[in-house]
Amino acid sequence: MTVDEFRHWGYRLVDWIAEYLENVERYPVLSPVRPGEVRSRLPDSPPEAAEDFARIFADFQQHILPGITHWQSPNFFAFYPANNSYPSILGELLAAGLGVQGMLWQTSPACTELETHVLDWLVQLLGLPDKFSSRCQGGGVIQDTASSATLCAVLAARERASDGTTNANGIVQRFTAYASTEAHSSVEKALRIAGLGSAALRRIAVDDTFAMQPQALEAAILADRQAGRVPFFVCATLGTTSTQAHDPLRPIGEICRRYGLWLHVDAAMSGTAAICPEFRWIHDGLELADSYCFNPHKWMGVNFDCDCFFVADRKALIASLAVLPEYLRNAASESGEVIDYRDWQIPLGRRFRALKLWFVLRSFGAEGIRRMVRRHVTMAHQFADWIASDSRFELAAPVSLNLVCFRLRADDIANEQMLHCLNASGRLYLTHTRVRDRFTLRFCVGNLRTEPHHVQQAWQLIQRTAEQLLPSMPVPLQ
Ligand code: PLP
Repeated sequence: MTVDEFRHWGYRLVDWIAEYLENVERYPVLSPVRPGEVRSRLPDSPPEAAEDFARIFADFQQHILPGITHWQSPNFFAFYPANNSYPSILGELLAAGLGVQGMLWQTSPACTELETHVLDWLVQLLGLPDKFSSRCQGGGVIQDTASSATLCAVLAARERASDGTTNANGIVQRFTAYASTEAHSSVEKALRIAGLGSAALRRIAVDDTFAMQPQALEAAILADRQAGRVPFFVCATLGTTSTQAHDPLRPIGEICRRYGLWLHVDAAMSGTAAICPEFRWIHDGLELADSYCFNPHKWMGVNFDCDCFFVADRKALIASLAVLPEYLRNAASESGEVIDYRDWQIPLGRRFRALKLWFVLRSFGAEGIRRMVRRHVTMAHQFADWIASDSRFELAAPVSLNLVCFRLRADDIANEQMLHCLNASGRLYLTHTRVRDRFTLRFCVGNLRTEPHHVQQAWQLIQRTAEQLLPSMPVPLQ
């Protein structure tokens, strides 16, 4: 590709993206392709000769686009969102253009310093305890995902609990870790990768709101201590994946302090809400935590991937992850005046993700992000009110922020059918979970483009689908 072709196609693609995003609701939200369909349209072997970009892009539109599920659709209510936004896309483009690999401060000082700076901004914006700021003993780093952040927290905690001997000699202690029955699967995965195994994880019971019960946590820790095991790590969740429940950080943190456990807080989706003072209650007790993460790529308009991971004691994290080969030595690192983020994460290399985060924070302003969060929470609560006022439906869990769990007052099969019909319509996308072992639909409002009329249309479609599936159920009078 020549530079002139690059310019030509660059402009064309930006136009195409703008057009796509402005009209994204025209596409079926969930891709209707069958397994293998996309591959069946691709040649078996790679091209020997260079191909014209016009042809490549035509193939993208013809063969790839039908296999896309449209996460940016205003009718995407599935899982938790993965938002992008115009400034974030431009940040990604610029990062790709610069092609920076920021493993060391020296390999691009701005990549490191901008990251440190915007993560310190987030400490202010979310009202995180000062200890998570680089100006104190801690600091923030951008990871790809919350799963990686949790793994780093587990590794740092493991090393702290064994005075650094695990990295040196392997695991000799019988470590145990704790998370609620509702915690994300990434906690178990992290323990597996850390060599501790799934069996090291104690699943702590939850209360009626699906939040961890601190007394049960303490009892489990005491039982393990009595059995000669070494309790070392607790993961508390703010905004569980199934129902958006929030574990009570203060009593959990006090227990962690009492027995010397590392407390990691996984606020993957819900952390963004703390930018609004009225939702900051989720962070009550956060000053007792050792680490915290949330994903701007979920609910802050920053393209996937971008997880912000904060530690209270950066030395503990670095001690668990730093290995220094000769070929990475340099004067700046040895001066002790710079951060080398390679020591704060699993891989060596790293992308310039701070650029998109910086663009978003400046283009939206804190006020813009607050407005978005409030709109989503208001729409979710409106949807919950509609569910609660229709006798054919029930809420399956308390609604805290922007996730509504609901079901038809019918058996699992009817609810599964309803989900299938809704998604097959192409007009929206919902996913499910099990709440108290019953099939439950999840409706998460978190897309930048979602307006009240999208939520209203979704509700009307859900009502109509219920009528078709269960014609004998009385339709409530409006
Ligand atoms: N933690 C929670 C509470 C989540 O809801 C999710 C995903 O939805 C994750 C962790 C994993 O996120 P990631 O894809 O960033 O690893």
